[in-house]
Amino acid sequence: MANAQDKGYEFLFPMAAYQGYKEPVLISACFLGVPCRWHGRRAKRRDALIERLQKKFVLVPVCPEQLGGMPTPRTGETLNGGTGAQVLDEGLRIVAPETGQDVTAYHVNGARYTLEIARMVGASRAYLKGGSPSCDREGVAGEVLKRGGIKVFRVP
Ligand code: SF4
Repeated sequence: MANAQDKGYEFLFPMAAYQGYKEPVLISACFLGVPCRWHGRRAKRRDALIERLQKKFVLVPVCPEQLGGMPTPRTGETLNGGTGAQVLDEGLRIVAPETGQDVTAYHVNGARYTLEIARMVGASRAYLKGGSPSCDREGVAGEVLKRGGIKVFRVP
């Protein structure tokens, strides 16, 4: 069977676009200096990390908590020593300390949208911020991504 170029479809599928192809990977958006952290302040950019990753990958920034519908600034909850797996399997609830609001659904939804984005862009790796109830490798998004076959790297 003739390929796209043989059939004169080069203008639709320019082969030059595939030269120098880099694998897409997810990265916590706050590492890029995006002010998406719960307190609303800009986190310190991780320039060394970004530079190193950019040599090999195309970075796709994601903030699972914002994807789940949470505003910035927002409440500063933790997993209280628990894990994302416990949230998903054992009914562990995530409660905002400031308001007592149960925000579990936001974290779970955000984790699912993050996985959806990974699949849409074809990412099989994610570099996520440690210590976050969502982004940590043991957080909710970290766990959902792992279960979805994504290799999750915890960046302290
Ligand atoms: Fe950063 Fe992740 Fe927290 Fe968003 S959810 S602010 S990307 S650590």
